[in-house]
Amino acid sequence: MKSITILIPAYNEAPVLDKLYERLVKLGDSIKNYRLEFLFVNDGSRDDTLWIIQQMAKKDKRISYIDLSRNFGKEIAMIAGIDHVKSDALVIIDADLQDPPELIPKMIELWEDGYDDVYAKRRSRDGETWLKKFTSKQYYRLLQRVTRVPIQEDTGDFRLLDRRVVESIQQFRESQRNAKAIFSQVGYNKKEIMYDRDPRVAGETKWSYPKLIDLAVSGITSFTTAPLRFASMLGMIVSFIAFVYILYLLIRPFFGVPTGEGYSSLMAVILFLGGVQLLSLGIIGEYIGRIFNETKQRPLYLIAEYHQAKLDNEPHRR
Ligand code: UDP
Ligand code: MG
Repeated sequence: MKSITILIPAYNEAPVLDKLYERLVKLGDSIKNYRLEFLFVNDGSRDDTLWIIQQMAKKDKRISYIDLSRNFGKEIAMIAGIDHVKSDALVIIDADLQDPPELIPKMIELWEDGYDDVYAKRRSRDGETWLKKFTSKQYYRLLQRVTRVPIQEDTGDFRLLDRRVVESIQQFRESQRNAKAIFSQVGYNKKEIMYDRDPRVAGETKWSYPKLIDLAVSGITSFTTAPLRFASMLGMIVSFIAFVYILYLLIRPFFGVPTGEGYSSLMAVILFLGGVQLLSLGIIGEYIGRIFNETKQRPLYLIAEYHQAKLDNEPHRR
């Protein structure tokens, strides 16, 4: 019997957990020929999330949970879960039921057909603001332009991953993570299925714009050093123009052009070069910051408690 782990990162999700569990139980009933594990990662919630999960785990032996020592963010919560997957496949799903669990049997079917990464692509995004939809669209466009790896547009982290993809992702240990970038980078046979993204059932979104910007920047920097090249290209072009202009200034007196004024052109050049330098420094700094963070080699997360589901028999593969 093959085993499947459903990974659910949860941060302050107490109001939705009951409904989520109901849907998960239904899911379990619809795929009886697989051994299921529901692996919750409590990402330092400040509400009753952990307590509710603990109560559920007492009643349902399919439930495992990892309690992180504080809030690390969804990206880290996911890798914490991924590190603890022992099953043949993994499904990552949001706790707020924006990703319908009813899609999972279809994912499993495609997995059985030989696909390693079955991801759900959003057809609509109800309950999200116009601004969020717009920025997300532009971001994907930019990301696709600066990288050579194909990127799945309008997909979240809701997907089924085969064991070998899980093992590959476990080897990506960067601390500033962008799961979407990593899913794209590992490759394997990908397959998309379309779905309508529902509004959140209860509670509120944990994503603020600063968090999203952070994720967006790490998406680009984890894929490519193209912005660094952009900085040096810009520097070269501007230096060349400046060089030509200086030659022109030097030659000018020989043709009787009166010199001496030139304050405005001087200012223009200084300000322009200053701007380009700051831009380049900023981009370089972005990468140096990342080097700094990665070289610290800190653990990605700390676990306060780990409870493992009591599966009937040990997984046949490790
Ligand atoms: N989440 C998390 N840690 C965080 C923020 C979010 O584990 O610091 C989880 C959250 O509980 C949910 C999922 O990540 O299961 C998606 O979060 P949310 O619904 O707030 O994001 P959105 O759907 O608005 O993009
Ligand atoms: Mg959500």
